[in-house]
Amino acid sequence: MILVFRPGSTKKEIHHAEQHLKELGFEPHTLYGVERTVIAAIGDDRVTTKEHLETIPGVEQVLPILAPYKLASKELRPETSVFEIGGPGPEVKPSKHKIAIGGKTIPVIAGPCSVEGRKELMEVAQAVKEAGATALRAGAFKPRTSPYQFQGLAEEGLEYLAEAREKTGLPIITEVLTPGDVPLVAKYADCLQIGTRNMQNFMLLRACGEVQTPVLLKRGMSATLEEYLLAAEYILTGGNRRVLLCERGIRTFETYVRNTFALAVIPALKEKTHLPVLADPSHGTGVRSLVPAMTKASIACGADGILIEVHPNPEKAKTDGQQTLSVKEFAKLMKELKPVAEAVGRAM
Ligand code: PEP
Ligand code: MN
Repeated sequence: MILVFRPGSTKKEIHHAEQHLKELGFEPHTLYGVERTVIAAIGDDRVTTKEHLETIPGVEQVLPILAPYKLASKELRPETSVFEIGGPGPEVKPSKHKIAIGGKTIPVIAGPCSVEGRKELMEVAQAVKEAGATALRAGAFKPRTSPYQFQGLAEEGLEYLAEAREKTGLPIITEVLTPGDVPLVAKYADCLQIGTRNMQNFMLLRACGEVQTPVLLKRGMSATLEEYLLAAEYILTGGNRRVLLCERGIRTFETYVRNTFALAVIPALKEKTHLPVLADPSHGTGVRSLVPAMTKASIACGADGILIEVHPNPEKAKTDGQQTLSVKEFAKLMKELKPVAEAVGRAM
């Protein structure tokens, strides 16, 4: 059930409602909006009635949540949530490196697929910053198809990312592969990434729900929208509210592209959830020449943010070079994105 409070309801009323819901056996999740506060009461609706919940002081309306994903559902919050990355969460140290995702301005999260070395990372971090990127993303823990491929620099890579953040002011996003690594990666990163192969790693989702670092959850390459939103729900229900979704392409019969970039998923997700929806045209196509056009298409169809792989010398990249833009190509694309964003009422 969703309890919608009257505008101007007091903290005391909200607190009282939360206590009452707990007594009834519900788990209350409170969302403070600009105009209104709502509480999602998660639990067995049969223990009470809509009429009873409507008598709680401050409550204006009680609505059922029909979607199976309760906290991710748009029924809970009709407008897109705006999340700070790198800003102070309850457990996160206040930081000067913060950006907002979900608002009018579209952030561009750029960087090499992997952290390859200290010097290499500092160079590319500076370059993407100069080209206008809003955050730096690179993997220190890499999920690789073959165990003989480069697996990432692990904690050493996280240290380089933290140094790059200090040097450039860009918040950092990096992947976490196992539940056991979540505290370590969260110690360094401003945002955790869960990759496509781990979208239904339920232990990892739960572990990411227990920290307050935002999570960028990529869609599994064969996941339905409902499975995807239920995966997000695992993180949300653990108490971590800041979940960002990201379409990165799905597996189809087509071999011309590495993945089929399912662009329609972006507006479809936006119809179903208040969580910000990002697009990753690099993995979405797997083909460098297609990345600029698909980045523009992503913005045109409503993406709240973009993820792009950039490397000073893509041919020499240790991972994903074939889909990675050079710094020059990235800088050119950044200039071309502004009018596209403006055409759909957004800003860069
Ligand atoms: C990545 O972002 O480099 C990555 C491994 O992504 P995905 O999980 O989408 O394949
Ligand atoms: Mn990659």
